[in-house]
Amino acid sequence: MLEGLAGRGLLIDGDWAGPGRGGTYAHHDPATGRHQADVGLASAREVDDAVRAARAAFPSWRRTPPHRRAAVLARLADLLDEHAASSAALNALDNGTPVSAMPSGHYAASWTRYYAGWVDKLDGEVLPVHDTGALDYTRTEPYGVVAAIVPWNGPMMGMGQKVAPALAAGNTVVVKPPELAPFGALRFAELALEAGLPAGVLNVVPGGAATGQALVGHPGVAKISFTGGTATAREVMAIAARHCTPLALELGGKSANIVFADADLDTAVPVAAVLGAGLLSGQGCALPTRLYVDERVVDEVVARVVAQVESLPIGDPLDPSTLVGPLVNQAACTRVLGVIERAHADGARLATGGRRLADTLEEGYYVAPTVFCDVDQHSDLATQEVFGPVLAVLPFADEDEVVSRANDSAFGLAAYLHTRDLSRALRLVEALEVGTVTVNGFPPMSPSAPFGGMKASGFGREGGRAGIEEFVQRKNVTLRY
Ligand code: NAD
Repeated sequence: MLEGLAGRGLLIDGDWAGPGRGGTYAHHDPATGRHQADVGLASAREVDDAVRAARAAFPSWRRTPPHRRAAVLARLADLLDEHAASSAALNALDNGTPVSAMPSGHYAASWTRYYAGWVDKLDGEVLPVHDTGALDYTRTEPYGVVAAIVPWNGPMMGMGQKVAPALAAGNTVVVKPPELAPFGALRFAELALEAGLPAGVLNVVPGGAATGQALVGHPGVAKISFTGGTATAREVMAIAARHCTPLALELGGKSANIVFADADLDTAVPVAAVLGAGLLSGQGCALPTRLYVDERVVDEVVARVVAQVESLPIGDPLDPSTLVGPLVNQAACTRVLGVIERAHADGARLATGGRRLADTLEEGYYVAPTVFCDVDQHSDLATQEVFGPVLAVLPFADEDEVVSRANDSAFGLAAYLHTRDLSRALRLVEALEVGTVTVNGFPPMSPSAPFGGMKASGFGREGGRAGIEEFVQRKNVTLRY
């Protein structure tokens, strides 16, 4: 399955251009460590070809009547749903995500369908410029070519979150999926062509940092939508500054999950265990990896979280009963094991996990879901994004203290809180410096709700009206009469 997509390579101007000529990435199956495909990386020349194709396709796509653009996206959504089972399997091979944990095809379909509905609803406004002898109104217009850098932990999801709204707004797109996991994005593009998307409207150039630099620094790009780490985002901003290219940044997080003594622990514990140490093996930007627990219930909560973490089904991501799969590659495994070693050195107490699962799953990149207690607020484990299955537990005494400690973070992506006290919940919703707060349960991840960060977690939003407004600019018009 992967070799076919790797062989087709880049998508430029509606043609599969073969593997890129900017070097090769040897792609390994995260579950077995076995080499499974060579990914040809797009060179700067090929990026230039892709941007030119997207620029050439822009005038016609922009003027395509809204109902026709919407129909193509709606067909694409249907195809994504139809092929969701094979996309889940592809995703498992691509980055190790278990087929049951993240239905990436259905997810991308729901976002694409949602934004198909927005195509004919982008309106302007008439402004009251009294006594000026003028009519003043605004128009929403697409930018032109959007550069989309989608992440390896959800490449097909990233296509739904970025490409669907960008196309719906009338832009054309050049996507750079990462070399680590390019296949979900290529499959999305294949289905987009089948749905009738015209040549050049969507172009795909897989690659690493050099490909990304060529894309975000291209003068033909009118808007950048980037997902990745904060350090890389600073480089992207510096490159974008050359041409004053506007950008939206979806970056990392170190999200707090706050459990008060009055919480319904039957709800709070699964959120803490599954999202905090299991799902995606911790490779998710908004996962709650700092667990703040009221000291009056911390022993009970830790005991229950550890029991649940130890019962999470780990194994082959293609097996529907698996919830926790491998990390994306060997480098990620080595990095996460290094974090665990440093946590020990910083005095944190290991409650479960803390090792590679090499004895049972010989070659795969598996690290056992891990829980550390007595974690220092200022240690690396409490402040740095791990991007691995490692949960830090920190007890707290009162509400003011926990709000200030939750906000004592460079990041501001998401927060979770569990309490039966509605007044307290609303106080915290206001006080927490994050883009998304989930109260009492799992987040629904709906395409109609805006998602994005504050502080070093970035700016701009994906989802909802805000998500499509990232891809339009407002023009003001004055008509004298
Ligand atoms: P990364 O920052 O290393 O790389 C991100 C992307 O940028 C990759 O495609 C890479 O090839 C490209 N890149 C690297 N240098 C570049 C440059 N100078 N110019 C242009 N592009 C460049 O991050 P990663 O390890 O791929 O992804 C993990 C990070 O992404 C984590 O911090 C995670 O939290 C974040 N993330 C955020 C969200 C979100 O929605 N907020 C979603 C998923 C992942």
